[in-house]
Amino acid sequence: MESQFERYGLDERIVEKLPVLGYKRPTPVQHSVIPLLMQKKNLIVEAPTGSGKTAAYGLPCITKVDANKNNIQALILVPSRELARQVEEAMKSFSTNQYLKIEAVYGGSPIKEGVAKVAKNPHILIAVPGRLRDILRDEKFPFFWRNINFFVIDEADRLLEQGFQHEVFSIIPHLKKGAQVSIYSATLTPDIEALGKEKFERMEIVRLWHGVAWRSIHFNTFLVPQGKNEHALVSLLKFREIKNALIFCNKREEVYSLSRFLRANGLRCEAYHGLMDQVEREAVMNRFKLKQVRFL
Ligand code: AMP
Repeated sequence: MESQFERYGLDERIVEKLPVLGYKRPTPVQHSVIPLLMQKKNLIVEAPTGSGKTAAYGLPCITKVDANKNNIQALILVPSRELARQVEEAMKSFSTNQYLKIEAVYGGSPIKEGVAKVAKNPHILIAVPGRLRDILRDEKFPFFWRNINFFVIDEADRLLEQGFQHEVFSIIPHLKKGAQVSIYSATLTPDIEALGKEKFERMEIVRLWHGVAWRSIHFNTFLVPQGKNEHALVSLLKFREIKNALIFCNKREEVYSLSRFLRANGLRCEAYHGLMDQVEREAVMNRFKLKQVRFL
């Protein structure tokens, strides 16, 4: 059966691999974005975490880079080490070419490691802007920008929130004219639109929030006194008899403390985050699927 991924002009070998990864049909963001990226459009995309945005830019990116050329052709900026690793892992999972080099550079590891990764001339480089700035400052890579023709700013709202505006703005002038740009953000604030429209030419906006992606979702907000949110969550889950839920936290420590709290209140909850190793994550996810764990 045709999955729709066949229609976008992506590399056929990659499309064949997608069902193995569990991608049976495109998500709404993929359906909107992949054809536009394949037509070389510059985009600002409203795409929250979990919408499938990594594959939305990742699949066209891998299709477009030429593994026979030994240079950096795609640069993906992300706000955190966790996301850098996640994107690296996703991109590697899409790749079908053993010669395609994908690397990620981020803080928290020795800078020498990052320098060595850039020196390998990966075809696709994923970078947290602060670390990229340090790598390019300490070591000279005179041809770094020369072949970058696919440029992504992922989670642009978080990048700006975390004070990376200066780094992002200092990268933009180095990009060659004609490089394809796409910017992804959970919300399209005036700042994000300004970043896209003032710094790049011919940006098109793709909005999903008010569209198909969210039509079937109800949003509720509960105002809770400070310090009472954990108790309020327990009451909500218990009194509404919620059977299963994914609960998102800002920080890893919160993931642990909240899951402990829920367990202490008799709810079958486990922690799940990007720094757990793959085996551990799969085991937790399996228990969730089998309903041995009700809350993640
Ligand atoms: P992202 O928003 O890119 O972080 O993706 C969220 C999750 O959805 C990841 O675990 C992806 O592997 C998964 N995913 C993305 N696209 C698809 C798809 N078309 N079908 C099934 N799962 C997907």
